[in-house]
Amino acid sequence: MKKVAMIGLDGMHWPILNKLFDWGVMPNLRKLAIESFKGTLRSTIPPESATAWTTIATGVNPGKHGIFGFTRPTKGYNDTRILNSQDVKYLRIHEMVAAQNLKSVCINQILTYPIKRFNGSSIITDWLSPEIKYSRDIERFAKGYHGPTLTKTSSLLAKNWNDEYSELSSRVDTTNALMKEIDWDLFWVVYSEPDHLFHRYYELVRKGNKEVMKLFAKMDETFGIVKDLVDLLIITSDHGFARFRHAIYINTFLQKLGLANSVKQEILKDLVCHRQVEEQKMTFQLPRETYRILSALPAPVELILSKIYKQLLKSDIKAEMTTYVDPKSSRAFAHGFGIYLKEKELTDRVVSILKKMQFVGGVWKKEDIYNGNNLEGFPDIVAMPNFSKGFALRSDTITPKSIVRRDFASHHPDGIVMIYKDEMKPRMVNAITVYDIVPTILNHLELEIPQDADGTAIKL
Ligand SMILES: [Zn+2]
Repeated sequence: MKKVAMIGLDGMHWPILNKLFDWGVMPNLRKLAIESFKGTLRSTIPPESATAWTTIATGVNPGKHGIFGFTRPTKGYNDTRILNSQDVKYLRIHEMVAAQNLKSVCINQILTYPIKRFNGSSIITDWLSPEIKYSRDIERFAKGYHGPTLTKTSSLLAKNWNDEYSELSSRVDTTNALMKEIDWDLFWVVYSEPDHLFHRYYELVRKGNKEVMKLFAKMDETFGIVKDLVDLLIITSDHGFARFRHAIYINTFLQKLGLANSVKQEILKDLVCHRQVEEQKMTFQLPRETYRILSALPAPVELILSKIYKQLLKSDIKAEMTTYVDPKSSRAFAHGFGIYLKEKELTDRVVSILKKMQFVGGVWKKEDIYNGNNLEGFPDIVAMPNFSKGFALRSDTITPKSIVRRDFASHHPDGIVMIYKDEMKPRMVNAITVYDIVPTILNHLELEIPQDADGTAIKL
């Protein structure tokens, strides 16, 4: 019997993983890496988890599966909504396998809530669920699975390492038990911890902090088990992670072009200041009166704010003044890597202006970069920062300047991939794309590859 497993490490990047290997933190994965095809997996455009994992799991581009980011503005631009499994318009590999009468297990794949039922497919939903749900047939294993969800804050935020370790252990132990004890043809699991850790504690990871290393060592247990259970193993991330030196605020840029408006002061109920103390990020409210006074001051507001907070909080902080963009009154506004335009005739103009900016690594009209019938709700323009020059997106807010010099960690388009098969000759391969994972798995299981797949099976 042929068996395939895919183990995802969200946000993993080779420079970080090599450090973990050097420190002896993930010995099982290191051994696999030595024996595998391995290389860089270039993420999707945009390099965000929802888009990238859905692409990896479907083998088609976002125009066919319908997922751009994990939130999307509502029709009247009054609000944004979080996507769910119903928004995924293409079968994912765990569903394709089940539809062809084989058995699959799928854990923590983004946008699996609410569970779409397929005979032969067992699921534990992801961290973007309002609560963890699982298929009834695996209840015996899954009831001990505890994850962060939309309604339950991660113990990572509170830096409670003991709680985090025990919660992660519940996920790793459940995964390992399912892997060993039930019958499956495809096993698909994504560990979100690398991404969640890098977002919050990138420096602790880079310094090899003991508590953080314990978490990676726990995940490594799965790699020790899986090798003897499969004849094809794929390990991949959905994007990488790196430090950047320039934060881009696209809405500020659009505001300066006269296209985006910020929320009016009177309705600005919750102006948020980001306060950074060491590695931990905290968010707190700035009293509205203070905001009125400050907003009357000329730039550089940031500097003034940080001085005030330095006195107030007696700690060295970086503070920044941010206001929200008001999609309702704006002619154009950015949401993540996309720009929504109310007046479609502005499209060419905005594209050509952005193309000339040095902070932009690439800019496209949606129909020029994606193909398929599920582009509804996508932004009109997709813009990627110039990652190689140290630029990355910071947030959707409007700040005093559109580019701010600062040191921060964020998604990088270069992810990792390893493919392990018994008795294969290990080598470096850089030609594997996010579209090739699904055809490779289907090919190995001798199942049909969909005609409109965007990739091809990798020759092993
Ligand atoms: Zn991710």
